[in-house]
Amino acid sequence: MISAVKVQWFKNNFPPLTIVDLVRSYSLVKMTTQAKWKIEKNRIINLPLEEKRKLYKSKDYVILDKVDPWNKYIITNKGLEDKKHTLDDLNEFKKIELDAKQNKSLAERVSIFRGDITKLEIDAIVNAANSMLKAGGGVDGAIHRAAGPLLQEECNSLRGCTIGEAKVTGGYDLPAKYIIHTVGPQDGSASKLQSCYDKCLGYQQEYQLRSIAFPCISTGIYGFPNRLAAHIALRTARKFLEKNPDMERIIFCTFLAVDVDIYETLLQMYFPVHDWNYNDGATVSE
Ligand code: ADP
Repeated sequence: MISAVKVQWFKNNFPPLTIVDLVRSYSLVKMTTQAKWKIEKNRIINLPLEEKRKLYKSKDYVILDKVDPWNKYIITNKGLEDKKHTLDDLNEFKKIELDAKQNKSLAERVSIFRGDITKLEIDAIVNAANSMLKAGGGVDGAIHRAAGPLLQEECNSLRGCTIGEAKVTGGYDLPAKYIIHTVGPQDGSASKLQSCYDKCLGYQQEYQLRSIAFPCISTGIYGFPNRLAAHIALRTARKFLEKNPDMERIIFCTFLAVDVDIYETLLQMYFPVHDWNYNDGATVSE
């Protein structure tokens, strides 16, 4: 039998929980679990490079010095200059006014990288994410797999991302330091796609980014036309680089042969390595 004295003692020492107590304990539990990704994020970001490399799931990572800048790529890959742009390309290209004085230096600050974006050991890679920031397919799935499960935990704390916006997380087990998640349009909106590129590049100062790689945002499951998407990407990158000398390299990561071909053709317009201007009557293919 439990005596009345014992019951009173229990009541004195363990008063009933109020709603406030319950909310407090819930928040405490939540903070403790959230702290796991926060602690790990900061720990990894501050690891010496050799230690960080032990975390990579794949050992065939690619350092920035191994990604040829465009002015070198065009020499190494013979026959590129035979690729001709179309009349549609020329019309799209006319939407930008280039500061031609910068052509030579800018051709050293962009690259095509053919392959898997998760291999790049650079400051930031961009993820073509969905608006819930939940691990999905395509490049998003590849990034989540290579970064590990804490990436999803940090994404959960961000409460999604709207179309044309971008949010930053740590890179966790990826060779890249940061991941910038942007949500591309599914309705073919050119201004929303441009906003994706603008918003990602807009993080340059805050995160001191010197190198960044973009996949071909929206051109996979979201169905944006590849060629127009490349014009938008290149135009936005060109404008940004002209005004932001601190960004050393923008890499266009092309995963499919169709995109390699498009970027190899259009980079010649937006980042010319010769002194002519494509607006001044260069030949086109129909
Ligand atoms: P979206 O939903 O924005 O269309 P997808 O992931 O379906 O995004 O496709 C975007 C682009 O990313 C496509 O060109 C696709 O081929 C490419 N891609 C898929 N996997 C990778 C990867 N591991 N690295 C780089 N690009 C990738």
